[in-house]
Order: sequence, then C-alpha cells, then structure tokens
Amino acid sequence: MTSQPPAIPVDLHALRLDDARALLAHDAQDGDRQTGESALDYLQRLIDGLCELSLRDPLTGLGNRRHFHGVLGRSIEAVARTGDSVLLLLLDIDRFKSINDTHGHLAGDQVLRTIAACLTRCVRPVDTVARYGGEEFAIILPHCRPAFGQVVAERIRETIAALPIAVAPMLTLQVTVSIGGAFAPEWVRSTADLWIERADQQLYRAKTDGRNRIYLDQPRESAVSAEEKGLLFSQLDLEHPPQSAASDRANA
Ligand code: GH3
Ligand code: MG
Ligand code: MG
Repeated sequence: MTSQPPAIPVDLHALRLDDARALLAHDAQDGDRQTGESALDYLQRLIDGLCELSLRDPLTGLGNRRHFHGVLGRSIEAVARTGDSVLLLLLDIDRFKSINDTHGHLAGDQVLRTIAACLTRCVRPVDTVARYGGEEFAIILPHCRPAFGQVVAERIRETIAALPIAVAPMLTLQVTVSIGGAFAPEWVRSTADLWIERADQQLYRAKTDGRNRIYLDQPRESAVSAEEKGLLFSQLDLEHPPQSAASDRANA
C-alpha cells in the first residue's frame, strides 16, 4: 500500500445510493461531458476510493490493522502452499507515553508519522508495513530466509535509534523501538492469531529485558505448537491409518 491519497476525495456523509443510481440512469451512455468519464468509471473510482479509505491509517498513511490482517491471511495461504519463509515483526515504540506527556500529543503524532515513513524506507516494496495499534507497527516480510531475519530487524532497530525526529522548529527527538518477531511455520497451515501471539511473546521479552532490542522466534520443529499440529493433522485419522495393499495381502 502506497501513501498516496485516495484517487477520489469521497465525501462519505454526502454519499447516497440514490445519487449513484440516478447518475447511472442519466449518464450511462454519454458519460460526463466535461471530464469525458463514464458513469461506470466514476462509480469504480468511488469504490476504489472507499476501499482505500477502509484500509488506510489516516495519521501515518500506512495500511491499517484491517489491511494487515488481510495480508497476513494471504501470507498464511502462501506459506502452506509453497513453504515460503515469511517473517512477521511487531514493533513498539519505547516509552512513547512520556513523549506525549512531555511534549504534547501533536509531537507524539509527528513521531508516529516520521517512524512510519522511516519503516517504509527500511524495507523492500514487497514487504507490508502497517500501523497495528496506537504506537505499534507490524511488518510482514515474505521471502525472508531465517538467516536474514535478525539482520533485517537489527537494521530497522538501528535506523530508528539514529533517526532525528523534528517535532518543532527547535525541538528534535530520538526514540527507540523494541521488536519481536516470528517466522510462519513452513508447510503448516497456522492461524493469524497463533502467529501474532508468537511474535508478541518475543516483543514482550524485548520490553522486559530492557527495550531497544530484538527477539525472534526462530522456525524450529518445536516452534510448531500442538494447536498448529492439530490444524494440520485434524483431517487425518492417525489412530486408524489406511491399510496398505501389502498388509492387506499379508492379512489375507
Ligand atoms: P513501553 O516502552 O512499555 O511500550 O511504554 P509506552 O509508554 O510506549 O507504552 P504505553 O502503552 O504506556 O503508552 C502508549 C501511549 O501511546 C499511550 C497513548 O496515549 C499513546 N498513543 C496511542 N495512539 C496515539 C496517537 O495516535 N497519537 C499520539 N500522540 N499518542 C498515541
Ligand atoms: Mg504499546
Ligand atoms: Mg510503547
């Protein structure tokens, strides 16, 4: 998701379905004579604009939590299908409340905007950066081999720690972030909640161990929880496996 404004400024309060119907009935053949745009194109632009608004965080321009969940769900499908290695990072700004308390809410907003832009610059276009909650961000990195996870997360942590954030003409702040991450278990159909929970546990460790640090849950066999194994094998009756042809013959 880019940080461009929606293609069409949509006045949601003024929008009525009757207007759209009237527009279609009136203009379906001729289109708008001034812009040359057909009514159907106009409606499509309207729909695109609404989709854009529903998926974007207005403060930072990043994808919002709904967008994040959509991408995470599609990543889970891709991992189960292809075995791709996908890393989820959760980032939380350290002691952000004190920025609001000391410098005001507008300064806090500026910090959030600057960090959002910085995160977008830190990752590849194929990665998804979203605002997960108040001062929390999430990044989904497809095609990220386990050996690179720590390197990528460390680059993000260091870049933010070194970032000067101008919040007023004479005031520049610096902040740090704590990062928790987890790889999707390859070839196993996980759930979004289980995956987020793993990354969140690592974020909690990073906070309690002193902040401004990274912990990643590496993809080991033991990282597949009993619940996830259940999701994978629930269709199979392991107690009563199908008889092979050879054992059928032996029993005959
Ligand atoms: P920790 O290091 O443990 O993460 O401490 P913290 O202060 O960052 O965390 P805490 O959860 O105590 O405070 C988060 C603050 O983020 C509280 C809330 O007012 C602020 N916040 C959430 N959303 C926004 C926002 O959109 N703008 C601003 N300015 N502040 C926000
Ligand atoms: Mg937080
Ligand atoms: Mg915080």
